[in-house]
Amino acid sequence: MSVTKNTSMGELIADVRERVLFLQEMGVSYLAVGLLEAKTDIAKTDVCTANGEKGMADSHNDAARRYPIPEINIPLNSKPAEPRPAPGSRLASLPSLGKRKGSKFFDEYNPPEVESGELRVERSGPETGFHEMSEPTETIEQIRAEIGTDCTRCKLSALGRSQVVNSVGNFNADLMFVGEAPGADEDRLGEPFVGRAGQLLTDIIEKGLGIPRKDVFIGNINRCRPPGNRAPEPDESVVCKPFLLREVAVVRPKVIVVLGATAAQNLLETKTPISKMRGKFHDYLGVKVMPTFHPAYLLRDPHKKREVWEDIKMVRDYLRTAA
Ligand code: SF4
Repeated sequence: MSVTKNTSMGELIADVRERVLFLQEMGVSYLAVGLLEAKTDIAKTDVCTANGEKGMADSHNDAARRYPIPEINIPLNSKPAEPRPAPGSRLASLPSLGKRKGSKFFDEYNPPEVESGELRVERSGPETGFHEMSEPTETIEQIRAEIGTDCTRCKLSALGRSQVVNSVGNFNADLMFVGEAPGADEDRLGEPFVGRAGQLLTDIIEKGLGIPRKDVFIGNINRCRPPGNRAPEPDESVVCKPFLLREVAVVRPKVIVVLGATAAQNLLETKTPISKMRGKFHDYLGVKVMPTFHPAYLLRDPHKKREVWEDIKMVRDYLRTAA
């Protein structure tokens, strides 16, 4: 593969991986690579086979001998993959989830694998999801009370917010919308997704999905407005996000629509652009997640409404079949 300035790192890594696998199939156990001094502009590569035979792969042996440098041995035998986190461990790390009691579902479907009174743990398959957990022992009101009206857990508390903006809506909703953080209108009124972007979201919910806004659950990953409407920073999100996840565990929606790149990348823990994530369901601990563009972005680029409508139709169709 020739490397040009347009070659992506992903392509380069894929190419190197393919070559390494090829060499492994040919019985090569390691590569010894020596880089010569920069002025020689020459590199040599020794290839050693599994039976110890060694052959020079380039035609610059003389130069390599004139400028000896230490070799770097690259074992080709891949290390065993890192073990996956124990199923349910991510949920167990969230505040209070470990206190949950067993449930009928839990007892019926996993009797031998259950440690009674604790979070259900599967021995195989996907990580334990929100829907598979035992009944919640806390309420949305208790979570809000724990957050408090004057939360100072992250630095957004000291950067000009007017109030903590909690999630709103139906605590038993099948559908949840998640954004990144309150904006100016939300900060002033104390409710997520109000103002022009909020009205557009309300239209999507009520006109597009035919559901009253009060019947869905709407929240943000961060509950305080970042200054200048900047995106929340990682140290701010990591503190506030667990409260939203606890709300998800209480509400147990069938679908979460996550609005905008910042919220989608944060919730799904990825760097994938929103344009590549949208249009298909993702899984987040057993809950279907549909990333789509933020309503504020639609106000700036109304052409994206068509793509959002495609996403919303997929959500609508799934909710009909999952009813
Ligand atoms: S953003 Fe969340 S964690 Fe930070 S101060 Fe506000 S409520 Fe507390």
